[in-house]
Amino acid sequence: MSIRVACLCGKVVIDLHGQPVARANCHCASCRDFYGVAMFSATAWDPASVQMEASEVRTFSHPEKQLKKAFCATCGEVVLGTNRLGMHVVPNAMLHRVGEEGSHSRWAPTMHLYYRQRVVDVLDELPKYLDGWDGALYSPE
Ligand SMILES: [Zn+2]
Ligand SMILES: [Zn+2]
Repeated sequence: MSIRVACLCGKVVIDLHGQPVARANCHCASCRDFYGVAMFSATAWDPASVQMEASEVRTFSHPEKQLKKAFCATCGEVVLGTNRLGMHVVPNAMLHRVGEEGSHSRWAPTMHLYYRQRVVDVLDELPKYLDGWDGALYSPE
């Protein structure tokens, strides 16, 4: 299975092969600062599953943390991140733009991570891990 995604202007194209390692909404402060979103909805991929046509891409590494992002030189959209585990993360916005193949049911997050650090509350049935997915779950009072 593979899917081709592109940035908003179409100059950066990424082919994703196989299945993501994880699909999550991340509420951690690092993602919030680095990606400029209240929560980061993304799929995580083994780097071998990701091929980027990169002539128009710029990258930026976090000055302190092991985070890197790639963005389109023309439209500025973040197309790919690399987390501290070396996984590539693809924002869900990229996938949903594709249409049928990028449908929510196929790529929807299966969990919330670092919910302890959230700045938005989410009312859904997904597991909400206070930290990473090997840790404790949030339970509403
Ligand atoms: Zn672009
Ligand atoms: Zn995060």
